[in-house]
Amino acid sequence: MENLNKARELVQNAAFVVVVAGNGLAKIEGLDLLGQEDFEQSFPEVVQKYDVHSVGFALDQHICSWSEKWQLWSNLIQKYSVDYHPSQTLKQLLQLIGHRPYFVATSTFGHFFENAGFNTNRIFNAFGDWTKAQCSSGINHGLRNCQNVIQKIAAKKPDEDIEKLVPKCEVCGQPLEIHMPLNDHFYPETEANTRFRWFLTGNEDKATVFLELGVDETSPQLREPIERLVAEFPQWSYVAADFKQENLLPEIQERSAGMNADAASLINSLVME
Ligand SMILES: [Zn+2]
Repeated sequence: MENLNKARELVQNAAFVVVVAGNGLAKIEGLDLLGQEDFEQSFPEVVQKYDVHSVGFALDQHICSWSEKWQLWSNLIQKYSVDYHPSQTLKQLLQLIGHRPYFVATSTFGHFFENAGFNTNRIFNAFGDWTKAQCSSGINHGLRNCQNVIQKIAAKKPDEDIEKLVPKCEVCGQPLEIHMPLNDHFYPETEANTRFRWFLTGNEDKATVFLELGVDETSPQLREPIERLVAEFPQWSYVAADFKQENLLPEIQERSAGMNADAASLINSLVME
């Protein structure tokens, strides 16, 4: 692997770790947003009903009935997040971070880091978390954990009526919707975002390594803005699993390692001395 020694050095010398994870990492955790190999086998009713062949397209369907929306969402979330088992990669990542303070900023919305044992106060889900729900009224009435509802709905047969199970907002009584930017009223996790900003501000002059894992074209917000941020603070360094060294910003060339590989191989190589 290109640059492995440099990556090792940057990671070992850091006192703080920031993990920046995109949908390439979700794929390692079993959820390929744009093309799941076993999607058709896993969701024959969804394929038949909507003629879609991936989670991304399924989530993009404009469905009017709340029962139907929740039926679809619950089936997907049950498979990818409720029945989820952490990958070797996430276990090794925890091992690699060790006792160092860390923060995870991620566009993976599948509750993977939480389920893999990362500290929930150290995770910012930039694109939401589909195991939680927000009010559909267009007003921010907070987030609610929906794993119980999801399990109940997913256990029903496709022709069973689930209308009574559709979760409702405790404030205004409107139906809830999954916490993802599926429409123009998405409310980001403000508290987690604030915690993330405080973490960064508190470490501006400290040796901090940013680990890019599986960031791809589905989350451009996690690429260049992060590189630019690293460029601002000389104590910060950047290790990119997926990008080539020559494609990283010129300002951070000396304190970065572009691996041109993938998150699983990078973490595995970093853990194996
Ligand atoms: Zn409400």
